[in-house]
Amino acid sequence: MPESIEAGAATLSGTANRMTAIHDGGRGARLGPWVNRLKRARFVLIVAAAVFAVLWESGTLATQPALASFAIIAVAVLIRAASRESARQTPPRDDSPALRVGDPLVEAVLAGLPDPVVALDRHGDVVALNARASAMAPALRRGEPVSLALRVPEVLDSIRRAIATGSPQRVEFFERVPVDRWFEAIVTPIALAGTASPGLVLVAFHDLTPLRRVEEMRADFIANASHELRTPLAALAGFIETLQGSARDDTAARLRFLPIMQAQATRMARLIDDLLSLSRIELNAHLRPDKQVDLVAIMRQVADSLQTLARDRGVEISVKAAADRLLVLGDRDELMRVFENLIENALKYAASGKKIDIALSIGDGTKSAREASVRVRDYGPGIAPEHLPRLTERFYRVDVTESRAQGGTGLGLALVKHILNRHGGRLTIESTAGQGATFTAHLPVAGPAENMNLQASASG
Ligand code: ADP
Repeated sequence: MPESIEAGAATLSGTANRMTAIHDGGRGARLGPWVNRLKRARFVLIVAAAVFAVLWESGTLATQPALASFAIIAVAVLIRAASRESARQTPPRDDSPALRVGDPLVEAVLAGLPDPVVALDRHGDVVALNARASAMAPALRRGEPVSLALRVPEVLDSIRRAIATGSPQRVEFFERVPVDRWFEAIVTPIALAGTASPGLVLVAFHDLTPLRRVEEMRADFIANASHELRTPLAALAGFIETLQGSARDDTAARLRFLPIMQAQATRMARLIDDLLSLSRIELNAHLRPDKQVDLVAIMRQVADSLQTLARDRGVEISVKAAADRLLVLGDRDELMRVFENLIENALKYAASGKKIDIALSIGDGTKSAREASVRVRDYGPGIAPEHLPRLTERFYRVDVTESRAQGGTGLGLALVKHILNRHGGRLTIESTAGQGATFTAHLPVAGPAENMNLQASASG
């Protein structure tokens, strides 16, 4: 590449010389420089002429040798003057314009790169840039100093260092406006063939924001998970200490403490179980389940298994399905987990409403594909609108104390969301404070043939 760039520059300067010659016109113009050289060398020529005249006059030299010697000296002086001029006209190699602004080759290479990249000359002026760089810093202009458009001191410093030292530089920087974003800039000086100092400096930018966000999420997740585990662990440790010490022979205390200890141990086990389920589902997130399962059968089984808890809480569960079968491609255990979580939540947080209505139906999805919907509606206190968008975040709870009191881990709805995503489905939540909540699981149906009977009866 450097050779081609230099060749391009040479071609351009050659063309310029040719154009100058054409504009100077005919022979007169070509003789002009020699007349000038004669003028500049006149002192040497006059002295030489005087010396040869004296030698000829005194008879030391004959006419012809005197004239011949003078002619040789004159030619030598003129040739030397001409070679000095050309030496003066050829600039030192390092100062030659190695790159043209908007060089098509450099532009083409930059256009093919996936990141924002700007090419600078050794003075820090923009020679070329790709569309991504323009989008990132719209003030960047070809032919203008990069420092006019890119007002990031860290990046400008590393460009200066790269030009001065000729070694690549890497720098990270942070932008607050319009939104928080992290970037890294990699500055690579490139010495073009035959030059000592860098003729081209490439500045490539990488957006580190998604990476940083994932790092933050992972750190938050670990902090939350350890906190959730530490609380029951501390309670257990406290009870064990009491039972070993002051309450060693206190039977009443032991009988009171043991069920609490068991509840704490169960909570820890549930949390670990939920964490493992989440990581397993995330691991398989890209694999769509391919077995046909019947949502109606799964839902009836889950509702039956939760009847005892519902009775304990004085809640009535009713299940209505638009047909006998509703087939989707799914993982039976995971879908059971989804419905268990939704019904358990309604029993935990909305028992005051005294009933839960479950409805299974089929209809048009968002992408005009047929979609099965499983609606779990409760008549409890409902959820304030500001919480709705965050409910599926890990460890997010409207009321932490109530969730813990109910044995919640804060991971239930996160699991529901991930399972539905893996099935190509989604979760929607509707609620008006004071009027209960409706959680709906939407799943793509298995295929038109299998659900024909259902569509017929659903629309009828
Ligand atoms: P948890 O283990 O705390 O139940 P989830 O992820 O299942 O965690 O639920 C998150 C939070 O959403 C709950 O802590 C609760 O505050 C709220 N929530 C979930 N379902 C309902 C519901 N049916 N009615 C009112 N609040 C609910």
